[in-house]
Amino acid sequence: MKTDCGRICGARCCSPLEGEETGMMLFPGEAEAYAGKAGWMIRGTARGQLVVCPGRCDRSERPLACRLFPLLPLLREDGGIKVVTDERARAVCPLARQGKSAMDPLFVEAVREVGELLAGDGEQAAFLRELAAEQNELKELRRMLGGGKRV
Ligand code: SF4
Ligand code: SF4
Repeated sequence: MKTDCGRICGARCCSPLEGEETGMMLFPGEAEAYAGKAGWMIRGTARGQLVVCPGRCDRSERPLACRLFPLLPLLREDGGIKVVTDERARAVCPLARQGKSAMDPLFVEAVREVGELLAGDGEQAAFLRELAAEQNELKELRRMLGGGKRV
């Protein structure tokens, strides 16, 4: 959006409920930037590393996942980039529930460009493929639970 969408939803993506500080995923190489930073915590998971932030940040220092949210660039099998709304954002973000059509096309295009840049690096490309697999699993789970279709 061209305005601050956090004013509409109370910045829900930066305000987890107590006990639900699940964090934002980190792309390969990002953990080093937050390790040891006061108020920030790195967590390891089966699918990579997460960072839990203090709930406020200098926007120029926020992780890539926060810059992309609620979108994700996924690497398709043919090597192209597909920009999708993150399945995990659906429960949190009103924009994610509306889909890409609610967002500034320049933002969607910027996310695509990020994906294309990342896809040029072997490690980042592997991570984008893992993200795609995870999104497929979540989409399938939503389908099984009777969730609605989204753009
Ligand atoms: S990205 Fe979504 S959850 Fe985050 S501030 Fe904007 S509308 Fe709210
Ligand atoms: S790092 Fe910044 S943008 Fe990301 S969730 Fe925390 S406060 Fe929000």
